[in-house]
Parts: sequence; C-alpha cells; structure tokens
Amino acid sequence: MLNEIAPRSGVAFTLDKGQRLRVIDPHGEQVADLLAFRRNDVREVISSGRTLDYASRIYLTTGDPLYSNRSNVLLRIIEDTVGRHDFLLTPCSADTFRIIYGDANPHRGCFGNLEAALQPYGITADDIPVAFNVFMNVALDGKTGALRVDPPLSRAGDYIVFEAEEDLVIGLTACSALQSNNFKFKPIHYEILD
Ligand SMILES: [Zn+2]
Repeated sequence: MLNEIAPRSGVAFTLDKGQRLRVIDPHGEQVADLLAFRRNDVREVISSGRTLDYASRIYLTTGDPLYSNRSNVLLRIIEDTVGRHDFLLTPCSADTFRIIYGDANPHRGCFGNLEAALQPYGITADDIPVAFNVFMNVALDGKTGALRVDPPLSRAGDYIVFEAEEDLVIGLTACSALQSNNFKFKPIHYEILD
C-alpha cells in the first residue's frame, strides 16, 4: 500500500526485521528525513558518526548499512535510483529557520514533525539525532570543508529501498526547508514491503 506524507509534515510507524521500506519522491527534488530506533529499546538509534566512520565515505548508496550508536546495523540500503543522500545535517527545525533564514515565526520543521510523530513511542526531542536525509544533496568542498545545500538530484518516481535488520520504529518526513527542496514543498510517498 502506498502512503503519502503531506508537504511539511511527518509520520512514525513500525518496521519489522526483514521488512523493506521504499521511500519515493513522487514529483522530484523533495527530501525525506528518516530516523530508525530499535523498537524494544529506543535509546538505540541510527548514528551518523558511526555509519560514516565505518563507511569511510559521506555519500551512502546501495549495499551500505546504517549503524546505530551501539554499532549494530539497523537498516541497509538495498536499492537506490538516486545515489545522493545526506547524513551530516540535523533535521530542519524552528531553530534552523530562525538562525539560517531569520524567520520571526518559524515552522517547526522536520525536527518538530518527528518529535510529534514519535511521541507515542516514548521518544522525545532530546533523543533525535542526525537523520538520514533521503535525497538531500549536500555538496562539499574537499579542501575547505565548506557545505552547500543544492537541489536534490531525484526526479519524479525516483526511490530508495531500506531493509530492516532489527524490529524498528521509523520516523519519516516530507522536509520543510526551502533550500533543501529547491524552494518548493512537495509530498513524499512510502510503502512497506514484506
Ligand atoms: Zn527538513
């Protein structure tokens, strides 16, 4: 069954070990922030630092595992039609919009959307780490380390598939940051495959 996440919103759901999650960009150039927690102990969560350390790369794609803060593999990427995602930056938030864009009344962003969606699972704001930012296109200057957020490379219908290696709680958004989504907010589609 295909599910839709409305623009600038987020959801949470469970994913069983062995199930697959397909995240689809239906219109193109739209980011989805993804979090995964171990279901029976949500203090275990995906870790950008450990994953990038063990991969020795910042761009992850088909075959790459997403490790937890306890160095267990929670998810593995098994298909990827885009090949450019980000695992450096935190979910966009009211603070992001205040600090970067100078918004006086900022949207709660992916961070607020994830906090609200994950609350029924006993997960709080302080438990939210760097998300795996599906389709987010962060370009790096290899010499200075300067970051630049470019439009996603995803086109309409592009997708990525993750396989769960543990029983998980997943948080997933249609990202709310202007620059990350080429200045247009679109929905995200996802489906769970047995
Ligand atoms: Zn966002």
